[in-house]
Amino acid sequence: MTVGVTSREVHALRSLHDLITTVHSVQDLEEVLQTVAAGVVDVLGFQVAVISCLDSQGDLVVLAAAGDEDACRAMRGSRAPLQEFVDEFELADTWGSLRFLPHDRLPEDASSGWVPDVQPLDVPDAWHPLDTLYALLHGPTGELLGVLNVDLPVDGRRPGPLSRQILEMYAVQAGLAIHHAQERGRLRERIRLSNATRTVVETTGREPDLERALQRSCRPLARGFNCDWLVLEVFPTQDGSNGSVTSTAARGQRVLYPADLLDRLGLDRPADPDPRLDDVAVRLRRLAARVARGCWPVSRTSVVAEVGDTTKGLLDQAERAALAGPLAALGTASVMLAPLGAGRECLGYLVMGRAEPTAVWSEAESRAALEVGREVGRAVEAARVHQRERDLIIELQELDRYKGEMIATITHELKTPLTAIIGHGELLHETVAGLPHVGAINRNARRLVDLVDDMLLLTTVKDPHRPFEPRAVDLGALVLEECEMIGLQALQREVTLDLSGVRPDVLVPGDSYELARLVANIVGNAVKYTEPGGTVALDVGHRGDHVLFSCADSGIGIAEADLATLFDEFDRSSNPAAHALPGSGLGLAIVRRIADRHHGRVVVESELGLGSTFRVTLPPLVRGPEEPPTSEKAVISPYASGMSGRSSG
Ligand code: ADP
Repeated sequence: MTVGVTSREVHALRSLHDLITTVHSVQDLEEVLQTVAAGVVDVLGFQVAVISCLDSQGDLVVLAAAGDEDACRAMRGSRAPLQEFVDEFELADTWGSLRFLPHDRLPEDASSGWVPDVQPLDVPDAWHPLDTLYALLHGPTGELLGVLNVDLPVDGRRPGPLSRQILEMYAVQAGLAIHHAQERGRLRERIRLSNATRTVVETTGREPDLERALQRSCRPLARGFNCDWLVLEVFPTQDGSNGSVTSTAARGQRVLYPADLLDRLGLDRPADPDPRLDDVAVRLRRLAARVARGCWPVSRTSVVAEVGDTTKGLLDQAERAALAGPLAALGTASVMLAPLGAGRECLGYLVMGRAEPTAVWSEAESRAALEVGREVGRAVEAARVHQRERDLIIELQELDRYKGEMIATITHELKTPLTAIIGHGELLHETVAGLPHVGAINRNARRLVDLVDDMLLLTTVKDPHRPFEPRAVDLGALVLEECEMIGLQALQREVTLDLSGVRPDVLVPGDSYELARLVANIVGNAVKYTEPGGTVALDVGHRGDHVLFSCADSGIGIAEADLATLFDEFDRSSNPAAHALPGSGLGLAIVRRIADRHHGRVVVESELGLGSTFRVTLPPLVRGPEEPPTSEKAVISPYASGMSGRSSG
């Protein structure tokens, strides 16, 4: 098209204006650049316009080409180090932001991508096919972002001042367009990567099964990192190899995306166990593990690629070459490996592969992959701690069971000789008058028997495997029965046993032997730890939707500090008055276990010097009436008539 200078100028400015509107509305960088290149060809009258952008590797990569089809085909996708251009710029004429390198100054070894087959005109300002004209494309802060290269002016002459000025304007707009498009691209990349990382964090945090969590993370990771496949491997733990721990965490995990990835390689196919192929898989995994262990301490990733390879120092030449086959089998142009880990320990690796040769792994992707590695590492750690806890619990339960068996056996064995000692001691006491110490021997032997009995009972009620077969038990009747025995001790200690609150027919589902032990321990303690003249008052009845047995004494009481551990095995309160009396510290532990087995609760309220109240609540067999009035009072008291009897013993 031939246009006069003025109309051409107007046309160019209008096109430039259209271009500006377009480039700001188009999202994709390559589309923006293609629009600019096409604009240069259409408006400025060049037969070829090529735009290259600076990539993260410091190379200028041709992203758009317009005009001559042969030229476009030859140039698109090609790359060259920026330095090559810089060297040429030094030899070139500077026309504002343009650089013009006449063919006669072109270095001998200069590589020209495409040389048109045209004859230069026979005029002083003729355009020579080897002439080169560049426009530098800068961002808003002056950083070099790319180069616009034009060739073959349609009029066959070097461009005059007007063309140069308009070309410069295009270059400014192209620079800004690249800047905006790159910013948008970076933002999109950031969102894409942070979505992927967040999904991994959420999935591993929500899903307690590590392998499932990793499996669920695969697809979002592949999407976030724009990769075609990935392998995530968690190494087995050190202690997993000895076979003592059977958890999946100890064995290690490997998840693949897509799941049939290895089929593409022809590896790991159980139906076709070709040892040669297995060998390849094992070698690849070993290699990945070694690279991951090299990367983790220095917090870096490793990229295997034609462009942007970072395996230097991690893989030797032979290893690097050995990867070519498997990668080709997968149709993969580049892979990135990121280590997984926690603290100082490298726990595995994430390897992602891309088919697209021009998709260079970016710095942001490398950082995000490291972040994913840390997150997965954290999840692996947490899963392992959890597993260790579970293993420990099993071990402790096993130990506890063993301890219980030991105690049961030992105490059983102790009972026979103790019974013999007591029998012979009593015989001695009856047959040989005045023998010293026999009384003490008998008393202590009986204490030992009590201790042995308590230990045997505790191990039985503690055993979770011991069947519990509840029957209807009349708790009121049971308490009265137990108190016949304890009533004698109360009389001896001059303690009043008040049974007026014990109602009959209060039925609970339970084991009568165990409930009798519970009552005997609580009431026995109350009598034991109450000074002569004191009172022990018992209550049995329905309270709301449960049955209550309570025992309130006016005894020595329990210090607040002792209450928290009162029901622990072998716990005796710090009160010296209590210590002066014999006891094993097992009674209340037995009480709590029996209450637990009956789905009940036991609580205590006490004040030092004022007395204690123990309350046991149990589920009722049937819901009873709400507290019927007490009809008769039963009091066992050294001071009450009819049931009294002061004993000197
Ligand atoms: P012991 O065989 O020592 O009585 P228990 O387990 O039955 O063991 O009781 C634990 C400790 O609780 C006792 O040593 C005692 O100090 C305290 N105790 C239990 N019942 C009472 C009570 N009714 N009054 C005061 N102290 C009590």
